Amino acid sequence: MKPRQNEQESSVPLLILGGGCAGLSLAYRLARSRRSPRTIIIEPRQTYSDDRTWCGWALTPHPFSDLVAARWKSWWIHTDRGSQHVTGSPWPYEMLHSAAFYERTLAAIDASHEIALWRGQRVSALEDHTDGVQVTLESGQRIHARHVVDTLPRPERLVAPWAWQDFAGLEIEAEAIDDTSPPDLMDFRVATRDQLDFIYRLPHAPGRALFEWTRFGRPASNPHTLRQALIEHLDTRLPEGYRILREEMGSLPMAPPAATSHGNRVVAGAYAGSMRAATGYAFHAIQRWADDCNAALLAGKPPCPPRRRPWLERLDRVYMTAIGQHPDEAPEFYRQLFARVPATSVVRFLAGVPHWRDTLAIMRSLPSGPFLRAAWHSTFPLPTQGDSS
Ligand SMILES: Cc1cc2nc3c(=O)[nH]c(=O)nc-3n(C[C@H](O)[C@H](O)[C@H](O)COP(=O)(O)OP(=O)(O)OC[C@H]3O[C@@H](n4cnc5c(N)ncnc54)[C@H](O)[C@@H]3O)c2cc1C
Repeated sequence: MKPRQNEQESSVPLLILGGGCAGLSLAYRLARSRRSPRTIIIEPRQTYSDDRTWCGWALTPHPFSDLVAARWKSWWIHTDRGSQHVTGSPWPYEMLHSAAFYERTLAAIDASHEIALWRGQRVSALEDHTDGVQVTLESGQRIHARHVVDTLPRPERLVAPWAWQDFAGLEIEAEAIDDTSPPDLMDFRVATRDQLDFIYRLPHAPGRALFEWTRFGRPASNPHTLRQALIEHLDTRLPEGYRILREEMGSLPMAPPAATSHGNRVVAGAYAGSMRAATGYAFHAIQRWADDCNAALLAGKPPCPPRRRPWLERLDRVYMTAIGQHPDEAPEFYRQLFARVPATSVVRFLAGVPHWRDTLAIMRSLPSGPFLRAAWHSTFPLPTQGDSS
């Protein structure tokens, strides 16, 4: 029977904190099984909106493939020094509207007899016990759970960010948008000597595209400033005018997680190992984790955290250090990467599941001077006065 929301004290085998991408991805898989443990999901939102688009490469199948709004077999990287049309990836770049994901996952949870989504509720405290975890909500309600999957979006769970990826996106409609042209994954022609900025353009339907202005930097930038820069860019680029259909913004800390799972509490989601520190991609890694975690739970085992690859995290750190030290050269690092290395290897690398040969090819493609210096600095960092971020 579905756990009821109005009880002051509840007890369940599984509690999921946060009903966002990770929490709902796991709950959706459990809801489709007849063997799901009784589960409560705690989520502050009352209603869900189309608040983000998830893009990336699906190297393995996921249960939302049929909801994908657009797929592209090739894409562009532009810098002041040239443009690279990237072809030959066996995996297309795909884009999914969060609204479609929320609709499907919420309907499955609604239909489940074992899983309940408690909306309008916020976690305020967690207490570890020998037989589970006691969770207190802001409403004062207490839930005892044998296992907790904690997907709360807590940036403080990451090590001090190496950089921030701040962005503002506008989904627009304009006659001049040609949806048969490949997208621009990174158009660095808007970058300056000090600001590593790029435009991301995804023409996904006739006359429609998602444009984003993204900045890699430290300290974080205000996404509202980037929105203004994007508006000015679009005003010049589309002088005949355009209509804004939807907006999204984000400020993603780029660093690996410091928090780890312990006892009966597993941390998961973007701030617990599923977000790639050098790229900000998380959606497909979350799907891989949700598959693993669902399989463990249905086998009667405890939930599992996302798989970590410490050597990849170290490489990301070197990459981000090199970019931070040479923001003016960084656009060329990206273009050269796509120009010199086969798309199959770069995509596997960006998706977070490279073979060792991919990693070697990528290391060989990058200029040795800046990257050796970055490797040295990231191994023996210099203390920075007053830098507490
Ligand atoms: C605008 C935007 C665009 C993005 N685009 C991409 C992309 O194209 N590709 C990609 O791979 N990644 C992308 N990401 C990164 C990442 O995939 C998303 O952030 C993804 O939603 C992370 O999933 P999550 O479950 O970890 O966090 P969320 O989806 O943010 O879920 C966390 C949930 O916890 C809830 N919560 C917060 N506080 C509490 C509390 N006290 N108690 C209970 N619940 C709480 C929140 O309401 C939320 O529902 C994007 C991120 C943003 C913000």
